[in-house]
Amino acid sequence: MARADIFELGGLRLHAGEARHLELEVPLASLDLGGQRYLAQPDLVPAALDVSRTNGGGYALRLRFDAAVAGPCMRCLADAAPALRVDAREVDLPGGGEELDSPYIDGERLDLQTWAHDAFALAVPDQVLCSAECLGLCAVCAVPLRDAGPDHHHDSGADPRWAKLAELRLE
Ligand SMILES: [Zn+2]
Ligand SMILES: [Zn+2]
Repeated sequence: MARADIFELGGLRLHAGEARHLELEVPLASLDLGGQRYLAQPDLVPAALDVSRTNGGGYALRLRFDAAVAGPCMRCLADAAPALRVDAREVDLPGGGEELDSPYIDGERLDLQTWAHDAFALAVPDQVLCSAECLGLCAVCAVPLRDAGPDHHHDSGADPRWAKLAELRLE
């Protein structure tokens, strides 16, 4: 499979109304989410690119790939790597105005790497979790509730930090 950072659309020599389906490998950079680094897995992802030549010398494009975003779970801090499905479209029509002027297409030159990165970032959910059922951390003692087991509890109202403080005061 060909690795494509920049893809030359002109090389396809498509006429208006013609389309081509391509299988490529696209490099994916890591993401910064709330000050934490999240890695794309794989960092060189197999992607499907559909290119259609429109009337008026423009392009309509669709990019699809699957990748995971790997980093700490935002609830319990365990390793998380939820799989994301990316399905992005771009249209670029010369003279079509701002709406139809893709930021990733310059003439016949497609900045596939930047497009894939932005589409991947958009596909990341608000919360990156180790699993949809992640229970997070105990609000009292901060152990991961998944590891703590169903019997984990604290006597109501007894925050261990306050208990400790009470002991100190009594001494
Ligand atoms: Zn978690
Ligand atoms: Zn606890």
